[in-house]
Amino acid sequence: MTKRIGHWIGGQPVAGPTNRTSPVYNPATGELTATVELASAADIDVVVAQASTAAKQWGRTPLSRRAAVLFSFRELLQARSSELASIITAEHGKVLSDAAGEVARGLENVEFATGVPQLMKGGYSEQVSTGVDVYSIRQPLGVVAGITPFNFPVMVPLWMCANAIACGNAFILKPSEKDPSASLFLAQLWKDAGLPDGVFNVVQGDKVAVDALIAHPGIAALSFVGSTPIAKYIYESGTATGKRVQALGGAKNHMVVLPDADVDMTADAAVSAGYGAAGERCMAISVVVTVGDIADRLVDAIAARIPRLVVGDGADDTTDMGPLITSEHRDRVARYIEAGAQAGAKVAVDGREVDVPKNGFFLGATLLDSVETNMSVYQEEIFGPVLSVVRCETFDEAIALINRNPFANGTAIFTRDGGAARQFQTEVEVGMIGINVPIPVPVAYYSFGGWKASLFGDSHMYGPEGISFYTRGKVVTSRWPDPATSTIDLGFPQTR
Ligand code: NAD
Repeated sequence: MTKRIGHWIGGQPVAGPTNRTSPVYNPATGELTATVELASAADIDVVVAQASTAAKQWGRTPLSRRAAVLFSFRELLQARSSELASIITAEHGKVLSDAAGEVARGLENVEFATGVPQLMKGGYSEQVSTGVDVYSIRQPLGVVAGITPFNFPVMVPLWMCANAIACGNAFILKPSEKDPSASLFLAQLWKDAGLPDGVFNVVQGDKVAVDALIAHPGIAALSFVGSTPIAKYIYESGTATGKRVQALGGAKNHMVVLPDADVDMTADAAVSAGYGAAGERCMAISVVVTVGDIADRLVDAIAARIPRLVVGDGADDTTDMGPLITSEHRDRVARYIEAGAQAGAKVAVDGREVDVPKNGFFLGATLLDSVETNMSVYQEEIFGPVLSVVRCETFDEAIALINRNPFANGTAIFTRDGGAARQFQTEVEVGMIGINVPIPVPVAYYSFGGWKASLFGDSHMYGPEGISFYTRGKVVTSRWPDPATSTIDLGFPQTR
């Protein structure tokens, strides 16, 4: 019988009384490996009730004890990271080293959150008026929920839950139904780390579960990461019910290459940032923007590297690029390649012609040259192993091109010119910038977030903005008799 994947509520696995399920595949073999239960609105009521009870206790638990749980969780996550990486690869398809990298980047957020006693410190102003002091404190929100995409089934939940829990909230994770197993592994690790039952919960599900989370009055805040249309929907409907919402959307990341760039280094960066995880990263490079006469040399250098990429099962150590998440998505990406060719782009390398394992959801790496901005391959997020090259004459033209694009998650520049790099970081209207770094995902003590259609709301994720998002500020103004001026008898001798 096919494995059934359920929820995790109140510190234990729960099989929902549901007749709605969704298939889970190993994308490298095409095999159906499990079915995942899809929560109903009634399941959401149950989890919110348990989380609310847990949040009351947890929010009052001393900071030192909360930090101790985070430290234990960090140790367990580190010790079990290769098991977790295998779980990711089996349902997502990315290569094991990349899955281990995802766990490591998630772990950074747990390490950041262990500093919660310092991170939640308020401010204090003494004697703002005679005998009057003012101070600020930060308090947890209560129950918060995270809705996450398929492409980082461990890292993105950790972006959210490490800080949310450290700040004293109870957290409900609604992972992607495409690769749900990692969420349950994380739940067990939280329990083993000593987290009280009900503080971390998982509800598997689809739109029904998400809509119930949005509507539920017991949830104070929603964190979302996924595609732009859903991010917009969650932001608009979540804020309409009075919730605090941060909703990170899709991307179309440009890499600008100036004529003075090192061609080999830049080609290596484009290949790893464009085709790593089969292009299914929100920070993947999608468009290479060449400036001036470097274009031919760079296109040749990228094209020369592509045949060396080994496409296969991510669980095999020799593989460089795994499959796409589903057969439908693989076919959709292949249709973009066709649309690009039909619209006049030059197909320098055609991923559809690469010899790939038959049963999985594979597609080889594709390089499209001379792409124009009116083509669908330029305008839409493909989320697959397709790099488009747009040729510009001038640097200003390249910056203007990026600033006209509605997506604004990440971008990078490759150059040896410090002045040009500085101009780029100042003028480009994008949330995360790399200078000779193709995928500039900030370390955990900075926050992550794009601009424009890549982020709805004003709070970036994790880091200092994560602490701020998962807490509410309170300012206390207090008056006590000032010993220097008071005429009140305090009942003990005054020295002044
Ligand atoms: P998705 O938007 O399809 O799904 C994300 C989550 O929303 C899932 O949990 C899914 O179950 C839920 N969902 C899907 N349709 C819904 C609907 N109609 N109503 C309510 N909920 C719904 O995204 P995906 O395919 O899982 O992930 C890929 C997308 O995520 C890409 O667009 C990628 O750029 C984006 N992404 C963005 C970031 C970022 O930091 N900005 C990071 C990772 C992924």
